[in-house]
Order: sequence, then structure tokens, then C-alpha cells
Amino acid sequence: MLTNILQVGTFPALMQREVTERVIPWTEQDLAARPELKQQVQGLITRSNIRISEELIRSLPNLRIIASCGVGYDLIPVSFARDRGIVVSNTPEVLNAAVAELCIGMLIGLLRQLHTADQFVRKSLWLKQAYPLTRGLAGKRVGIIGMGRIGKEIGLRLEPFGTTIAYFSRQRKPLPWHYAPSLTELANASDILIAVVPGGAETRHMIDAKILRALGPQGYFVNIARGSVVDEEALLTALETGEIAGAALDVYASEPAINQRFLNLDNVLLSPHAGSATTETRQTMIQLAITNLEAFFATGKILTPVY
Ligand code: NAP
Repeated sequence: MLTNILQVGTFPALMQREVTERVIPWTEQDLAARPELKQQVQGLITRSNIRISEELIRSLPNLRIIASCGVGYDLIPVSFARDRGIVVSNTPEVLNAAVAELCIGMLIGLLRQLHTADQFVRKSLWLKQAYPLTRGLAGKRVGIIGMGRIGKEIGLRLEPFGTTIAYFSRQRKPLPWHYAPSLTELANASDILIAVVPGGAETRHMIDAKILRALGPQGYFVNIARGSVVDEEALLTALETGEIAGAALDVYASEPAINQRFLNLDNVLLSPHAGSATTETRQTMIQLAITNLEAFFATGKILTPVY
């Protein structure tokens, strides 16, 4: 059993079971009640949707590793940790399929308006009128913003639907899809834009009013990345005024207290940051996060370092 580990944040029951089988974790409440424990903490386990502050890291003078469950690490002050000699690990690859599946599911759900179709049947509106026509996926030009591990899996899954794939990322990839050298160019040439880039300062608001205008009134936007990558005010205005046709969102600027204006829009399909939230994937993610901790304390090496 691993000891001297601080767990930051609450985990779903399935993940917590895995933690308690392999780790005897302290919580932040334990540290508040017994401040002397801060000296003993050598490892930290957390999830990618929980912010780790520099202040917390500074308060743990013997911290050596932060093991995060999730691939994004925009809420961890990574360079601050690195400067203090602290290793940071995440859980890439193992969640690719789950996130890609949710992305495709949300996209089809949005185009076919499954969220309003469900309400249409439940509220017996079907007895009074025909359900309005929706839009199909076949033949659409899909632009993927961020052609990394998950972006590629989304592209591979979209091809059999008869779509044309293009992408924008910092570098061209050895992939058969068209590389757009700018995001504006990608947006201009896409019916659907999918964001799957990391969050953080570099990508903040990269999807703004200009990009949404380029996507146009027949265009759809899917955000499976981070809320910070889109200027949410511009997105809301574009959705409210019909400047774009619709959006499917898994992530938001302020989660879970999302902007209430989204709730009034039928052309938006909402998901509660659930990209990796399947039983199978979350189990694998927490196992990998703990294996990183175990490997680090046994050998000094980890399987999936952030840097
Ligand atoms: P990844 O393999 O690192 O891929 C990220 C891609 O984004 C790379 O293609 C990278 O380009 C590109 N990129 C990075 N900064 C960019 C910039 N400033 N401009 C343009 N492109 C940029 O990461 P991944 O495993 O695919 O995960 C991607 C992100 O998805 C995560 O960071 C996370 O935020 C999000 N995510 C969300 C969920 C969810 O539940 N909704 C779950 C998992 C992940 P280069 O390769 O050219 O450098």
C-alpha cells in the first residue's frame, strides 16, 4: 500500500474503491486538521478537472510527484512544479476511444436534434405535428482543431460516415487528411468544427467571433476540448443570432455552473464534461494514475510523464 499520498478532490465511487485498495490517502481535511502531515506528503493524486494551486504545492515541501487522472493538465501549474523538481503524470491514450465516441455521439445527436426529438415524444407533441427535418452527417466537411491522440481517433471514426476530414494543429501530421495552415482557413472550409486541443493560455479563446463567422450559419461546432478554448460570449451570441447553426458542448468556461443562456437554446446539445466518463475507461485511468505513483516510488520512473 502506498502511504504519504494526498488525494485532492473527490472521486466517483468506482475510482475511489481502486484508490483505497492500493493507497492509504490523506485528504485536504486531514491536512487541515493535522498540519504536521504536510511535511510527510510525497505524492499527490488528483483528477484533471481539479485545480492544483501553486500555494498547495508550496505548502508540501517534500512533494515529489503529482499523479493526475485525465489527459489535460491545464489546471496544474506544470512549470512551477517542474522548477521544484516535482514530476507530473497524466493518463493519455487510455481514454481516446471514450472521448472520440462521445464526440461522434454528440455530433450526430446535434445534427439529428436528438435532445429535442426526445422531448417531442415525451411531451406528446408528436400527436399534434410532424417533427421538423434535421441535418445529416454524410457528405459534410469536418474540420478538427487539434490533431493529436484523440483528434486522430475522431477522424478515423468519422471517415466511414462519408465525411471529408481536414485539420489544424501546430504541425502537419503524416495523415491522409488535408492540413489547414490556419484556423480561419479550416473554419471557412468546414461544415462542422470539432475542438480537441489542450486548454491553457496558448489556446485560450482561439475559437472566437471571427472563427464562428467563418464557420457560418450552416455550420456546427463541437467542443470536447476545454471551455477556455472558445470565447463563450461570442459562441452564445452566434448561437442566439443564428450566426452558426448549432453546437454540442461537453466543456464550458465555468463548470459546473455553466452560463444559463445555454439552457434556453434548442440548437445546443449539452453534456456534463463526460468525455472519459465510462466505467471501463475511468477504471483504466485510475489504475494507470496509481501505477504511475507505485512505479515512481519503486523505481523513480513513471509510465506517462507530462514532461
Ligand atoms: P494531444 O495528443 O496532446 O493532442 C493535442 C493536439 O492539439 C495536438 O495536435 C497539438 O498540435 C494541438 N495543439 C496544441 N496546442 C495548439 C495550438 N496552440 N494551436 C493549434 N493546435 C494545438 O492531446 P489529446 O490526448 O488528443 O487530448 C486533447 C485534449 O482533449 C486534452 O488536452 C483535453 O483538454 C481534452 N480532453 C477532453 C476530455 C473531455 O472529457 N471532454 C477528455 C480528454 C481530453 P501538435 O501535435 O501539432 O503539437
